[in-house]
Amino acid sequence: MIFLGNFTLSYYLTVLLAIVAVIGDYVVVHSNIHVYQAIFDNATHAVIGGLSWCIVYLKNKPENSLSAVLEIAACTVMSSFIDIDHFFAARSFQLKDAISLKNRPPLHCSTFPLSICVLMLLVSYILQSWNLERITLLILTAFLSHHTRDATRRGYWFFPYGSTPPIPYGLYIILTCCIPYLVLYLHDFVNITHKKIVHHSVIQYT
Ligand SMILES: [Zn+2]
Repeated sequence: MIFLGNFTLSYYLTVLLAIVAVIGDYVVVHSNIHVYQAIFDNATHAVIGGLSWCIVYLKNKPENSLSAVLEIAACTVMSSFIDIDHFFAARSFQLKDAISLKNRPPLHCSTFPLSICVLMLLVSYILQSWNLERITLLILTAFLSHHTRDATRRGYWFFPYGSTPPIPYGLYIILTCCIPYLVLYLHDFVNITHKKIVHHSVIQYT
């Protein structure tokens, strides 16, 4: 059945990703109460993160089907929990304090997750750890999707170099749809390098 194929399902999920991003922002902008704005904003981050990993998962399925639920749930929760640093930075669990910070809180700095994920990918390659690579890409998906959505308002923050200008809305939608495929490219890149080494050693023995 062509309509149940992974490619077609991924295509539909990518379109859904764009729709969720647009509808989520529409609801946030048209909510007049701060609490509802915060809830819808965070829910949009969560759903975008979950859908993004869903696309990655469809293209790279582990054998154990339970991991589908766990991985997608983990990416959903992580994409949402990044905003918890607003409360820690404000040292308050009051929403008005969390949304009126003068500076951006630490989990919103793109330098740290990008550096850590590159390092973890390198370690996963050295150790040939498929699980570590998978966890790293899941973390990367959550942070990239969250930071890209926030970048429409305040740009990307690359400490110590500063922040980029806010990105245009259309670019945000395109980047959001591209993130799962970028992650898949990284997944393949690590695997391809690994295959090349295996292939090389086979050539040496023959
Ligand atoms: Zn945020």
